[in-house]
Amino acid sequence: MTIGSRQTVIPITELEQSAFCRTDGNLRTLTLEEEFQAGVRWQKVPIRYLKMTPEEVDAGIASARETLGDQVLLLGHHYQREDVFRYADLSGDSYKLSRLASERKDAEYIVFCGVHFMAETADILSGPEQTVILPNMAAGCSMADMAQTEDVEDAWEDLTSVLGGQDEIVPITYMNSTADIKALCGRNGGIVCTSSNADLTFDWAFERSKRVLFLPDQHLGRNTALAMGIPEDEIIVWNPYAPMGGHTPEVLRRSRVILWQGHCSVHTRFTPKQIQESRDKYPEVNVVVHPECTRETVDVADYVGSTEYIVKMVSEAPAGSVWGIGTEINLVNRLASENPDKTVFCLDPIVCPCATMYRIHPAYLLWVLDGLMAGLVINPIKVPEKTAADGRVALQRMLDVAG
Ligand code: SF4
Repeated sequence: MTIGSRQTVIPITELEQSAFCRTDGNLRTLTLEEEFQAGVRWQKVPIRYLKMTPEEVDAGIASARETLGDQVLLLGHHYQREDVFRYADLSGDSYKLSRLASERKDAEYIVFCGVHFMAETADILSGPEQTVILPNMAAGCSMADMAQTEDVEDAWEDLTSVLGGQDEIVPITYMNSTADIKALCGRNGGIVCTSSNADLTFDWAFERSKRVLFLPDQHLGRNTALAMGIPEDEIIVWNPYAPMGGHTPEVLRRSRVILWQGHCSVHTRFTPKQIQESRDKYPEVNVVVHPECTRETVDVADYVGSTEYIVKMVSEAPAGSVWGIGTEINLVNRLASENPDKTVFCLDPIVCPCATMYRIHPAYLLWVLDGLMAGLVINPIKVPEKTAADGRVALQRMLDVAG
């Protein structure tokens, strides 16, 4: 059992999160050398990619894609910058992309333009003959980094020592977590969820157990639990840096939902004040936010839902409608340009892209495609077989529950 408290560690990805925030609204792609000035960690690339103009990179990617043909399947997450997203064969949220990739067994290489945990999930779900590639290994996720394997293993040991086994507590992890955490859930009777099926996985867990440990996003967990009618005083937050998560055994025994102390630095930027300001400006506005936003923000929004839900809501809305959106800026900008007959804007007046997603600069994409043309696999993502097998168990449970 782990007894002592640890020193609080803030992931580097979290410290770097505001590196690309701008007040001028300009997210134009620059040369990699210029973008390196943002001062975050970037993976080293051969020097020639640093100075290439966006036009040269563009021409290189188009030519490489033509040469490589169907051998390569390029996946683009909704939060990718436009200059990468437009090359995607398939687009979607993390789960949709991994599932689609697993159905495309003809593609030898899957280039995942997203972040590290997504590429891991694609590797777990893809065939043994397929190779998943992440263009920039520095593209992590600050939320996933808030649930380090050792901390979660210690917490699980502490919780089960106080509460008992699987009929007392079941772990649920959000898709936005490392393969190690998904595997821990698979080994311990747990399940994976997405932002669109978290409630179904809570139901599944409560059929088997008295309580859940929800990882790593406290906001998605809290918003889901409250919407299901679980009383507030039965929901607690586990602080990985305090002994027993900061709770007495009695409090743990009284709880029904134990939330890991993690969050998304992009979605926690949205506030009730921004929503009020959008309503002052556009009285007819429809406000839709992602469930990774805080409870206070979710409480005053008109609609709450996953990335795919937000895309569907706005795309199917009548012409002339007004949408204030609380999610990543690249997606909001894309929705605005794809729906010129509607008014679509981001609730946050400061343009703050997800700093890890943003590290998939087109020059990194060109680098890995050039590698494939030369017979080199750059940045393969390979989850160890035992971890992948356990993670697959937790993912399969989710598929059985939510399809
Ligand atoms: S938007 Fe948030 S949860 Fe998604 S990749 Fe970025 S930091 Fe992670």
